[in-house]
Amino acid sequence: MFSEPISKYFRLQVRQKEALKKLGLETINDILFHFPSRYGDASELNLIQNTEDKQGVIIYGSIKNISLGKTFKTKKPVAKATLTDNTGTIYITWFSQPYIAKMFPENSVVKLEGQIQINSSGKKTMINPKIEHAETIPNNIADSLFDDDSIHLSPYYPESRGVTSLWFYHAIQKIFKTKEFAEIIDPVDEEILEKYHLPNLKSALIWIHTPRKRSDAESARKRFAFQEVFLIQLQKQREKALALQEKAYAVNKKLSDLKYFTSRFPFELTNSQSAAITSVLNDLEKGHPMSRLLEGDVGSGKTAVAAVVSEAVTSTNPFNQNYGNLQVAYMAPTEILAKQHFENFITYFKDSNIKVGLLTGSGCKKFPSKVRNEVATNISRAQLLKWVANGEIPILIGTHALIQKSVNFKHLGLVVIDEQHRFGIEQRKKLARKDKFFPHLLSMTATPIPRTLALTIFGDLDLTVIDQMPAGRKPIISEIILESERKKTYEKIREELNAGRQAYVICPRINDPDPDVETKLNLKSVMSESDRLRKDVFPEFSIDVLHSKMKTSEKDSVMADFESGETKILVATSVVEVGVNVPNATIILIEGADRFGLAQLHQLRGRVIRSNHQAYCFIFTDSKSEKTIARLRAIKTAKNGFELAEIDLQNRGIGELSGNRQWGISDLAMEAIRNIKMVEFARAEAIELIKDDIDLEKHPDLKEFMEKRKMIHFE
Ligand code: ADP
Ligand code: MG
Repeated sequence: MFSEPISKYFRLQVRQKEALKKLGLETINDILFHFPSRYGDASELNLIQNTEDKQGVIIYGSIKNISLGKTFKTKKPVAKATLTDNTGTIYITWFSQPYIAKMFPENSVVKLEGQIQINSSGKKTMINPKIEHAETIPNNIADSLFDDDSIHLSPYYPESRGVTSLWFYHAIQKIFKTKEFAEIIDPVDEEILEKYHLPNLKSALIWIHTPRKRSDAESARKRFAFQEVFLIQLQKQREKALALQEKAYAVNKKLSDLKYFTSRFPFELTNSQSAAITSVLNDLEKGHPMSRLLEGDVGSGKTAVAAVVSEAVTSTNPFNQNYGNLQVAYMAPTEILAKQHFENFITYFKDSNIKVGLLTGSGCKKFPSKVRNEVATNISRAQLLKWVANGEIPILIGTHALIQKSVNFKHLGLVVIDEQHRFGIEQRKKLARKDKFFPHLLSMTATPIPRTLALTIFGDLDLTVIDQMPAGRKPIISEIILESERKKTYEKIREELNAGRQAYVICPRINDPDPDVETKLNLKSVMSESDRLRKDVFPEFSIDVLHSKMKTSEKDSVMADFESGETKILVATSVVEVGVNVPNATIILIEGADRFGLAQLHQLRGRVIRSNHQAYCFIFTDSKSEKTIARLRAIKTAKNGFELAEIDLQNRGIGELSGNRQWGISDLAMEAIRNIKMVEFARAEAIELIKDDIDLEKHPDLKEFMEKRKMIHFE
């Protein structure tokens, strides 16, 4: 029953069908797990007689005296009606919505949402309220929603026009009465639930949909939040355990063995970098695949770590061979970054005889070139792939193009991944092709995320943190700039530009919105802000733009001009190529900063900490809210990105955790992630369970549940 379509059990009108579809609800199970977004109770009743002037209300009642006319001057259609409940009457006007008269004939029972206005004579009116059909007229909301007097909290569902909370209430009551519901199977072990005082599935479903007290609803939510994280942990811990069952090429090197390589660097490794390299080398010895995450702020030197580790791998012979090299695949999220890593690797590997290849959608390169030893050369994709397949090119850097079928390594020892949040066991297996050895995995990220989120989404990886910046770096000066200080700040920037530095200007969007569409948000756009800066602010400097809608070739030439210093100011959106390395760019100005999460601001700021010149981050906001400005100030005081991510996490709800969706976990799991204890419990239980039941043979219900949700696959 649970996986069957809703329409099999409920007679649905067209508008209800459409509304359910819009909400993404197809099966009985979908409605059962469509949770209320809030609960009302009798004290929240909106009876007409209790409403006050300027109050935002939801009112149920019946429509009467509906009429359609035209406005006096502009001749626009205007619909009028009254709404009555048992306690009073409201006079309603809808402008330019003539269809309302047709859709809601006399005596329709409706739900209205809008603001009440009371005029001097005490007459209550509403202008343009939201209106939708309701099933019954309530005396009061508690009665209306519930036949059962003992229930006091009424659920409000995230609604869509056409299907009301009341409909959900009745639908769910009907499901609750079925035999199937009585026998619903709980995927989570009873012992685990008892240990953490969480309700079982059946109670939790009843409590979340029709709680008698708020605490019931809360414990139900807690259970589902726990369940979400527990399932993710199970999935990750299982992947981790599966990886460990595989064989990998053993690499037996100590950091001291690699002195010949590191001594060519123009700098000393920081202690943090050395420790990170050592922890990786310890993993590589073991003959089982490493799964490690290297976390470090932008500029902390992760690429250098990857280079040293790559040297350790490529200077190792394949298993049972005293010739040849193990290979390294280094995958970056964008072409620009792939190219930049390629350039960096050239500087690290130029004095060794290791060849480095670059594979992207728009072209391939090889270093060194045959004719000139110190430069890279363009080669055909076919040629590059041939050399990768026969092992002649030990290091291949690229974008997602690296995991295409056509790319075959001879002896792939290590995969290095930059800023990819998911690179599961399936992808590793694919990369290994037919090799019986699994590649080691070094995943690197500068994305400041809270610890609980890291423990969850990277649950399959062991964690190493680089918490030290290379010596000689001056801390970046970050300032919150209010509108009144704009001019002064431009002068400060002009000084820096005159001294030879370069600047980024980040805008929240690419283009101005359609001028015909009214918008309250007055956000700066890359296109118009770059025009304004050219004309009115920095006419003496060359200004260019970069954004995600540009072609790769355009982006490349823009970046090349900026890197060469020809372009002084680069106006860009936030989405483009965080991590691009232009050491001479020491200023970043962020427009509309209140729109960004702190962690995101921190990441943007990371673009200007690449050199030994003093760097500046100017955070512009025209917000007048004390709270917003106080929040932004945290960026001046926080020690690192991870601390800022924690603050964002606590502020969520207003969408502060930037790119919440990007982590691919549900809102409920996000809720759990705010609770470190819960995440740790879930993790501990998952580790325990997987330890002696990797394929969940002893937990068939759980296994089925996870298979259904496509969280685990069995061949
Ligand atoms: P990340 O990838 O962590 O953002 P990179 O590895 O790109 O950082 O390093 C940023 C810059 O710092 C590069 O120009 C690199 O050459 C330099 N760098 C790396 N390690 C050190 C170090 N120990 N001392 C000084 N400079 C370093
Ligand atoms: Mg990097």
